[in-house]
Amino acid sequence: MNKIKSASINSNNKVEESIIFEKNILLVEDNIINQRIIILSLKNIVRKIDVANNGEEALNLFKKEKYDLILMDLQMPVMDGFVATKRIREIENTNKTHTPIIAVTANALLGDRDKCIDAGMDDYISKPFKIDVLIDKMAKLILK
Ligand SMILES: [Mg+2]
Repeated sequence: MNKIKSASINSNNKVEESIIFEKNILLVEDNIINQRIIILSLKNIVRKIDVANNGEEALNLFKKEKYDLILMDLQMPVMDGFVATKRIREIENTNKTHTPIIAVTANALLGDRDKCIDAGMDDYISKPFKIDVLIDKMAKLILK
């Protein structure tokens, strides 16, 4: 089956979607409704979406699989998104790799963006968001 999308479609969204096609994504999110919304929005655009319910599950998956991008909720039980991101960056420091991480947070608290960048995240999006905005951020990081 030919899965290549045309990049000549007159829509930025289609071009961006074609960029993140064939990519493996790790979604780290404890809220099942949010999980479903993001999976439904991305499932036809990316190759695979693995889901972790908290930071600890994310770390276990990260050690086993290679991901092109991680979507990381901040507030989660067991291990939150800040700690999980710091652990992932520690692992990557030893093998000189870098997986783009986008923080996905419930409330746009002042200073959250700085906290995310300090924790080693590449970008930040606050819920609720338009899926096109997320796809745009994903495409930019994957293209880097
Ligand atoms: Mg949460």
